[in-house]
Amino acid sequence: MKKRMVRCRINDIKVEVPEGTTILEAARAQGIYIPALCYHPKLSVTGACRVCLVEVDGVAVVSCATPVEEGMTIITNSPYVEELRRDIIDLILSDHPYDCMVCQKAGDCELQELAYFYQIRYPRFSGRKRSYKTKDGNPFIEREMEKCIQCGRCVKVCDEIQGVCAIDFAYKGFELKVCPPFEKDLDCEFCGQCVSVCPTGALVGKDWIPKGRQMNIKQVDTVCPYCGCGCNITLHVSRNEIIRVTSKPDTLNEGWLCVKGRFAYQFVSSPERLKKPLIKRNGRFEEVSWDTALDFVAQRFKEIKDKYGPDAIAGLSSARCTNEENYLFQKFLRAAIGTNNIDHCARY
Ligand code: SF4
Ligand code: SF4
Ligand code: SF4
Repeated sequence: MKKRMVRCRINDIKVEVPEGTTILEAARAQGIYIPALCYHPKLSVTGACRVCLVEVDGVAVVSCATPVEEGMTIITNSPYVEELRRDIIDLILSDHPYDCMVCQKAGDCELQELAYFYQIRYPRFSGRKRSYKTKDGNPFIEREMEKCIQCGRCVKVCDEIQGVCAIDFAYKGFELKVCPPFEKDLDCEFCGQCVSVCPTGALVGKDWIPKGRQMNIKQVDTVCPYCGCGCNITLHVSRNEIIRVTSKPDTLNEGWLCVKGRFAYQFVSSPERLKKPLIKRNGRFEEVSWDTALDFVAQRFKEIKDKYGPDAIAGLSSARCTNEENYLFQKFLRAAIGTNNIDHCARY
């Protein structure tokens, strides 16, 4: 059903949006910047960080959780709201480790960016600091929970997008923390969606440290080679080595990946990777040229076909090949060898 439209003014711009649109969404659709740390466009509203405060008819309201109402007058950048936002960032930083020099997230950290924007060199408020001595022993995700600002994005993405619910908030007040059940090591699908939405350096890939942050990184958009889904990935390359894989939110997979696509890229630079064909002779593999290998395979195919017929040969193809490669493979089996004995690992 078509939604009723409501009209408001945002920073003196007349805006009309469908009923139910939040102030944050309405402003961002106009290109008006409102900072937010817990808000994420693909997750349900949390309304926890309070950074997205705006002024509505003189009153500060949380813009991510407040729908536009008919006739509202909204100001997103008054000195009043800017001062409130600055205080909130200041408070968030009061128990945050000032670790940017060595933090994996520096240069790509939403909290660091807001501290920069509001020029908070040292927090005015200082008090207790969190300290978690036991490191999570999981193989993929570094969880530096001292840097957690308790925005809840990771909890929501794990529940609402991945459907795993491997982490949640535990304890209360200052002791509040995000952790797996019983504070054991993270044991989940390791999709890394939580890493991708974390606004700080609390969650990063273990293998990313200290291979490189933002300086001198070449980003290359490509397609994940692992299966037929064709998820879009971005390779972060430093000194001719892939040091990190991310995925952009405007791709067909919406930035979400599986554990293989996100964390299993090391094979590309592995010294154990096969670069030349091998033929087993006298029980040992020997490196040979491509011409030698192809001649050998062609000769053996011919021998088997002549002796037992084409149906003595079968081909098993791979989901890691491209569509074009798989097409050529079946064409080769059917037209050159003469058999329909062909299958594909993705069918299992
Ligand atoms: S999480 Fe952000 S603000 Fe905190 S130390 Fe890392 S880069 Fe700095
Ligand atoms: S890696 Fe995936 S499954 Fe594991 S906690 Fe993060 S979002 Fe949940
Ligand atoms: S770990 Fe990151 S995403 Fe999760 S609550 Fe903390 S800051 Fe937010």
